This record gives sequence, structure tokens and C-alpha cells, in this order.
Amino acid sequence: MSDLLRTPERRTCERCGRVERHDDDIGGWRAERVGDIHCIHEWDIDGTFVPVTDADATSGRTALEEC
Ligand SMILES: [Zn+2]
Repeated sequence: MSDLLRTPERRTCERCGRVERHDDDIGGWRAERVGDIHCIHEWDIDGTFVPVTDADATSGRTALEEC
């Protein structure tokens, strides 16, 4: 179902530098760099989303089967 929507895998806050990566296991965003917890994050994916291939993550990923 969620595959119908193409979700950026990574996003960066333009204000505080927080970096999050979308984790399919939890179905949400996981912080790689915390940044400012009080920041109202301004994600860099608005309208200018450019798919970035993380070679390590892609090659190391095992196929997850969701029931
Ligand atoms: Zn922020």
C-alpha cells in the first residue's frame, strides 16, 4: 500500500542540520544527526527532492517481506 507513494529516503533540515533517514522497519523517520530538538524543521525535500542513492545502504539491504 505504502509503495504507491514514493518517499524520499533521506532528508535534511535546512535550519538546524538535522538529518533523518526513512526506516522501512519502523515505517518512519530515524535521526542520523539530531540537530536542534526545538527547531521547527525545514526539510530540504520540499519541491526539490533529488533521489540520492546511498550505495552502502542499498547494497547492504536485505529484501524485507511484509505480511
Ligand atoms: Zn531543524
